[in-house]
Amino acid sequence: MPLTLEQINAASIAEFTALLDGTYEHSPWIAERAAASRPFASLAALKRALVEVVREAGRDAQLGLIRAHPELAGKAMVARTLTAESAHEQGRAGLTGCTPQEFARIQQFNADYNARFGFPFILAVRGPRGLGLDKTEIIATFARRLSNHPDFELAEALRNIHRIAEIRLDDKFGIEPVLGNRVWDWCERLARHSEQDGALTVTYLSDAHRACARDIAAWMRDDCGFDEVGIDAVGNVVGRYHGLDRAAPRLLTGSHYDTVRNGGRYDGRLGIFVPMAAVRELFRQGRRLPFGIEVVAFAEEEGQRYPATFLGSSALTGQFDPAWLDQVDGQGIALREAMAQAGLCSADIPNLKRDPAAYLGFVEVHVEQGPVLNALDLPLGIVSSINGSLRYAGEIIGQASHAGTTPMNLRRDAAAAVAELVLFLERRAASVPDLVGTVGMLEVPHGSVNVVPGRCRFSLDIRATTDAVRDACAADTLAELAGICARRGLDHRIDETMRAAAAPSESGWQQRWEQAVAALGLPLQRLPSGAGHDAMKLHQIMPQAMLFVRGLNAGISHNPLEAISNNDADLSVRAFQQLLEQLATETR
Ligand SMILES: [Zn+2]
Repeated sequence: MPLTLEQINAASIAEFTALLDGTYEHSPWIAERAAASRPFASLAALKRALVEVVREAGRDAQLGLIRAHPELAGKAMVARTLTAESAHEQGRAGLTGCTPQEFARIQQFNADYNARFGFPFILAVRGPRGLGLDKTEIIATFARRLSNHPDFELAEALRNIHRIAEIRLDDKFGIEPVLGNRVWDWCERLARHSEQDGALTVTYLSDAHRACARDIAAWMRDDCGFDEVGIDAVGNVVGRYHGLDRAAPRLLTGSHYDTVRNGGRYDGRLGIFVPMAAVRELFRQGRRLPFGIEVVAFAEEEGQRYPATFLGSSALTGQFDPAWLDQVDGQGIALREAMAQAGLCSADIPNLKRDPAAYLGFVEVHVEQGPVLNALDLPLGIVSSINGSLRYAGEIIGQASHAGTTPMNLRRDAAAAVAELVLFLERRAASVPDLVGTVGMLEVPHGSVNVVPGRCRFSLDIRATTDAVRDACAADTLAELAGICARRGLDHRIDETMRAAAAPSESGWQQRWEQAVAALGLPLQRLPSGAGHDAMKLHQIMPQAMLFVRGLNAGISHNPLEAISNNDADLSVRAFQQLLEQLATETR
């Protein structure tokens, strides 16, 4: 019999601990302490309570928990002394069927890992989809994690333990995250279209890109029951699911399906498939909401093929600049020509402009693309603002001179001056929450080991939740630059190369996401978006707010290691459904 929430909420502490036995390997203290947080409103709330116990237990208890686990394909597996849960998981991953070479490799990894970190390597071998990683993935992950910093690796081991516990709890409760599995599988299936072998690259209007559009359109129409599905003049796939009143303002949502070169499977695509999964459920129930839902799979956001970016969402806001049509890609193909070849009529793009009065607002679900939610062990976060950004290209000009003959007090060292500026920006940005400043490029042109740097080029990238905070940091940084140069007797030049306004979430829409997350039994975590998104464009014509989903592997993105779990995908669909329910109540 699967467990139920009623059962665990009503149990004594001893019964509760017994019912959750085996969730955390040889560590009943976790369930014992979590018992005090009952009643749990949802399975997600129970999982969170267990995670919190471990987070608050301190380093020694955490190490004890990690050390309670067997080595991967280790002595316990060979001697058949694993717990039933571990034996099942390691067997399912094919570890019991290793070749002698693979087995020897894993043993070497186990020894190296233990020597470096002092605890066994923990990997949730059932993986982000719950179906099991294959041996190759396991060995690659093992090799990669060996080079992590010890503090990070301790946290990564705990995250894997929580993932193992999550899957074991789903098994105990007889629950499968079917909505999340669908979204995850759509992402996986769409990723088979790529311009590059062995890497995911889908740039605007390539064959792979057009194949993606056809798939998304087909799934909207055939799997999800959208009433109208089409590919518009800029290549966006647009699906509409009508409400009871077709003239009533619709909810607009979506994200992009293009990728960077060698990108991840979830960036953009998640925000298309989450609302599609929600519409599919409405369709299956034969249900119509008071308002319609319009899901847009934006054709282009990343700016990989042409210099212009946000081609898809710019068309909806009426900001698609016809001059872009003359831009050429790396092969010399003009945008206009690429669109004609793809059968798109660029002359129709102005007609794609949306009338804000026809919409309730815009929401976008997106993988976080950062480490915050992963580090907090939280599946979902609410975006407070899409950061405004400002970039500069600068150069400090000093005097190149002999490194041996120029005394320290007679130098005019351009690189040392930039180094001062880097540290200033680091301190200045760290002093204000949600402000970030980066010098990502630092170059001594024609530098030499025995020459005092005469020139140093650098970049500045400053982002904040509001334009005012960003601009204040930029002004201080430029003043510091002038001060450093004056003090050191150097010249400089600094050019602004990019300026994008912040897009704070509209408070009503942000609150809807907050209520949706709270309704799932999850704590609220607000965070800014450091990266740009389609919502930033729609922001200019209608209210918007975004929901972030935790990225695994420290939230790495624009990278093949980008990953989400099926459970987190499931929670994001359910948050989206909650948001629809709230809107339905409000608009009834
Ligand atoms: Zn994106």
